[in-house]
Amino acid sequence: MRQAPEPAPDVDWDSHLRQALQQRAEAALYRHRRTLDSAQGVHIVVDGQPCLNFSSNDYLGLASHPEVVAAAVEAAGRYGLGSGASHLVCGHGREHDALEQELAAFTGRERALLFSTGYMANQGVIGALVGKGDQLLQDRLNHASLLDAGLLCGARMQRFGHNDTAQLGRRLAALPAAARTLIAVEGVYSMDGDCAPLAAMADLAREFGALLMVDDAHGFGVLGERGAGATEHWSLSQAQVPVLMGTLGKALGTFGAFVAGSDALIETLIQRSRSYIYTTALPPAVAAASRAALRLVAAEPWRRAQLQALQRRLRSGLERLPWPLLPSATPIQPVLVGSAEAALALSAGLQRQGIYVPAIRPPTVPAGGARLRITLSAAHSERDVDRLLAALAGLCP
Ligand code: PMP
Repeated sequence: MRQAPEPAPDVDWDSHLRQALQQRAEAALYRHRRTLDSAQGVHIVVDGQPCLNFSSNDYLGLASHPEVVAAAVEAAGRYGLGSGASHLVCGHGREHDALEQELAAFTGRERALLFSTGYMANQGVIGALVGKGDQLLQDRLNHASLLDAGLLCGARMQRFGHNDTAQLGRRLAALPAAARTLIAVEGVYSMDGDCAPLAAMADLAREFGALLMVDDAHGFGVLGERGAGATEHWSLSQAQVPVLMGTLGKALGTFGAFVAGSDALIETLIQRSRSYIYTTALPPAVAAASRAALRLVAAEPWRRAQLQALQRRLRSGLERLPWPLLPSATPIQPVLVGSAEAALALSAGLQRQGIYVPAIRPPTVPAGGARLRITLSAAHSERDVDRLLAALAGLCP
């Protein structure tokens, strides 16, 4: 007869958790949420305080655009709100289908597949394409969603130095000849704002028979004359970047993500991506809103021109201040502060003047690399940028 199990030791989980939280607070790494009472935009109300916002990924100022909102309202009136089920059951609707076709045409790929979030798209792609016995090479600064997917997929994962194509080449050369290898990089790095040298990476991938995946969460809508992102900027075809991932919650101002590539790739993802198969489809109204946003991305290139102008103005002002800048030509302009404490103090100093730029601290960035991550929007004015620069000048160490 089996014996009854021993009673579990009396673990006081709450005091254990409190202790760990206390340690995090002592290291200036505790994170707090702020509550907005306004629409997303350049002027927001954060915890009751009106602020000029330099923290959003709504790069083109589309999150509250009347045409985007109207498309969502109209579609919700027609289709209701929830999608009801996963894409493979009965959650895949006409709006999803149309958006996939428009995204494929816009990025110059055979097909596109919607995912509910970018995090899930990265999980779904990497898990479907590589596993035990395969090789996965990732840039050291890749987003957590790519790194987590790498840990979960079972492939042998190696990281290479940030944007270091020489090291990537050496890593590829050292792999067994028959290895199936996926290289995953970002088009624009989310915390540094710099671009990956994608043309050189595509050449290396071809030379070694590896598959190149680009997460263009921060380039899609922003880079390229038409806003099709990093692959347009570098003129890279589907053959050169076979796996293109983009998000809809940043420059498009809506929510969700997509993967674009060959018909065989998309069919493989539909069959095998667990984060595609086992989750509820995006609400159709969100897909309709994304279609409206995509039309604005294509039809209003002035938004990208405005971003470029603001970015030049911000950088030339920041160059006169003591903090190091990173080599970024995108709307993500980090100001390197160093310690988490100093980054928090600088952020708080700005907030006292009604300017919201949160401090980004480890583990989101490497230890000693705490920073203000300033992000620009096409909806900012030159006066907004000048106000930020004047406030920063007044807070110099
Ligand atoms: N990839 C990168 C590079 C990102 O910055 C983000 C979002 N911060 C994601 C993926 C995840 O996208 P989502 O927010 O849609 O889950």
